[in-house]
Amino acid sequence: MNSNRRKFLKGTALFSAALLCGHHTCVRAKDVPRACSLRGGLQANDIKLFRTSGNSDLDRSINLELIHAAESFNILPGFGFYDDSDGKNAFATAETWIPNTKGTVAFGIELLSDELFSNEWGGLAVAGIMAHEFGHIFQYQSDFYSLLTQSQPTDRLLELHADYLAGYYLGLKRLRGGEIDIKGFLDSLYLKGDTHFNSPSHHGTPIERAKVMLEGYKLGLTNNNNIQQVAETGMNLVFTL
Ligand SMILES: [Zn+2]
Repeated sequence: MNSNRRKFLKGTALFSAALLCGHHTCVRAKDVPRACSLRGGLQANDIKLFRTSGNSDLDRSINLELIHAAESFNILPGFGFYDDSDGKNAFATAETWIPNTKGTVAFGIELLSDELFSNEWGGLAVAGIMAHEFGHIFQYQSDFYSLLTQSQPTDRLLELHADYLAGYYLGLKRLRGGEIDIKGFLDSLYLKGDTHFNSPSHHGTPIERAKVMLEGYKLGLTNNNNIQQVAETGMNLVFTL
């Protein structure tokens, strides 16, 4: 394990798993309305959420990240891992699947593994993807979902806005003292951009995704905003693209 991955894994204080699924398997969903997946094409039938990634050190590190993301976006979604062997993915749904939470984020085990071992900053990409999905939960639970989707033929603005929020979160993470290299998430995001301009699940081009994430990151580094202001700034940006 290299030093950067260890950095992501450190912070081993054991937090209560309030956000995590409380049982080994907790959910079966027939369909996922108003759900946003990282790569589109989500088949959401019979998804089971798991509490653990299979690695207890990684679980603790992710749990810490979840708590920071929930605080940063002022939300409390449920979170779990799921079997994404039919296509690496992560998603957020407005549905509540875990008691005492609101909305749900699920992270695919294979995506997790893929990102962690893709490069030395893979842990940062995991944090960025989680923040992107938490950004969707914030959108669902505010006016931003309708503002970013009304009269839009695709999810592009919604997705780019979530990228902006993810960048903002990573800026805050840097301010908390994390030694991070934003390129780790930049590369990951860039590779997930697409040019399917007419597809309903179009997420924005690689350049657009990278650009808005970096703008959000810059704002996060100022640590001088509340999430509502941040989201408005991000919305104004994506409408100009
Ligand atoms: Zn998304």
